[in-house]
Amino acid sequence: MVHTGGVRVSGPNREPAGRLRASDAGHRVLLKGWVAKRRDLGDLIFFALRDRSGLVQVLFDRQRCPAEAVEAAGTARMEDVVELEGEVVLRAEAQRNREMPTGEIEVVASRLEFLSRAETPPFSVEDRTNATEELRLTHRYLDLRRPAMQRNLMLRDEATFCVRRALHERGFLEIETPMLTKSTPEGARDFLVPSRLHRGEFYALPQSPQLFKQILMVAGFEKYFQIARCFRDEDLRSDRQFEFTQIDIEMSFPTEEDVFDTVEVVLGEAFGVAGIAAPRPFRRLTYREAMERYGTDRPDLRYELPLADLSAAASGSGFAPFEKATEAGGAVRGLRVPGGTAFSRKKLDDLTALAREHGAGGLLWIKKSAGDVSSPAKKNLSEAALKRLLEAAQLEEGDLLLIVADRPKAVFASLAALRAAAAREQNLADEGKHAFCWVTDFPLLEWDEAARQWSPMNHPFTAPRPEDLALLEEHPEQVLARAYDVVVNGWELGSGSIRIHRADIQERVFRVLGISEEEGRERFGFLLDALRYGAPPHGGIALGLDRICALAAGTTSIRDVIAFPKTTSGLDLMTKSPSPVAAAPLADLGITLSVPPFPPGEGRG
Ligand code: ASP
Repeated sequence: MVHTGGVRVSGPNREPAGRLRASDAGHRVLLKGWVAKRRDLGDLIFFALRDRSGLVQVLFDRQRCPAEAVEAAGTARMEDVVELEGEVVLRAEAQRNREMPTGEIEVVASRLEFLSRAETPPFSVEDRTNATEELRLTHRYLDLRRPAMQRNLMLRDEATFCVRRALHERGFLEIETPMLTKSTPEGARDFLVPSRLHRGEFYALPQSPQLFKQILMVAGFEKYFQIARCFRDEDLRSDRQFEFTQIDIEMSFPTEEDVFDTVEVVLGEAFGVAGIAAPRPFRRLTYREAMERYGTDRPDLRYELPLADLSAAASGSGFAPFEKATEAGGAVRGLRVPGGTAFSRKKLDDLTALAREHGAGGLLWIKKSAGDVSSPAKKNLSEAALKRLLEAAQLEEGDLLLIVADRPKAVFASLAALRAAAAREQNLADEGKHAFCWVTDFPLLEWDEAARQWSPMNHPFTAPRPEDLALLEEHPEQVLARAYDVVVNGWELGSGSIRIHRADIQERVFRVLGISEEEGRERFGFLLDALRYGAPPHGGIALGLDRICALAAGTTSIRDVIAFPKTTSGLDLMTKSPSPVAAAPLADLGITLSVPPFPPGEGRG
């Protein structure tokens, strides 16, 4: 900061309003920003002036300020852009505002100029707003002016910068890969871009830079990263966007440990920006342990609340739902909720509905309180079976036992949801805690019932464990992958693997996936070719930058950390896209619509 004859000049030509403090009293300052609040008491007019650095109170006082400035201040409206000069003055003790960082001072103005006038905004630009998200997204420029949104995007910038620096310092090269490319299968539909010059042919927007980063390893770069935009045309949920950003990483000659080490450092940097610790090493669980213990491969480990295997205890109970599930190759599992006898009938009905939503046929509950056992199924269960179940679940006085008997998939999915709901009800998760973990040893493949074929659990380039390779054709279900996910508080932050680096193995995996030789060549010929010219063993991961920033900012919606997000039905309300295209550009592309377009903005979603 330079002091020039009482007028302080910093930055280009003005002072950051939000940084003025008591120590600045006596200085003349030049401020530029938005009128955030205005109070007109006749001889005294107060503004709050807002710029990126925060808010400061400005005072126009007839006693101390030229009349024309006071007149002008009287015409100011919210969100007008102004330039003003004045003196920083200490406020009287009684008038200090302890809630504002600049609350000890105010700026007594001597000049005011309007740089731009604003119409009445459709909602007030403040953190506490009752504007609907639709209105906020339509006028995103106003929404983004709110201090909380400014903080979120500043945090995102800082986190991204720290990640870049950490990776650069570890020898990773940032290399861009194309947006107009060929489809990379990550399990979603592609966004297609028609080619004008090659009429009838299409590019796909990348679902991820997966194949390019592998090819960069074949090309000898050894360590790559990219803050990469990815595009997936899938049904949107609250924490998904059609386009999102990944911290995409790949390295040559790595073991899983090298990837874990890099990622733990990167996440430590990113969360560190928000003062959140990511203590290393992260806990590790195999996929199987995670499923059996928590029913999900993205467990919230802020609390334990494990599931119990009740299959043995349930066997021979004569209880029809148990018998039916076991005969069909299913399972009986339960969740002991300590202190859960306090759950009301209504709560239990809600939990039953939740179990059904996640594919279970129903939910059985048992309560143990005041030495008595109560359950809707008490009369259908023998004394001995009931005793076995309670013992297997280690039910104690005051506990509730929730039991699901069904196909394993439904059992796990519903108990995982019940576990999360019970934890919420019992306040088990410490909101300030971040429990990071690695989930490893995923199955390579899963059976796709609808398509009646094997599909990759991750993507088709994931390496099988070498010791399982011999099982690939005969027992694909037994093959485990060198794949891993990094998880925090029930959110999957990233997913990656050691890749297949031999063309013969890649072709075998394609075959098991039902991809014919011809199709394999047509879709991935360039990869197979590259693997034939000396490919190093390689592996990597992609971390979801939007989720990381949302968690670091303490918001549950990734839309709060993306400057221009789309709605959950994929609309950009500010630019009004998608939108119909005129006939001429379509004709250039050789496209005629065979179905009438949906009315603008409606779509199917
Ligand atoms: N390309 C993968 C994805 O986007 C991540 C990886 O395997 O590195 O999920």
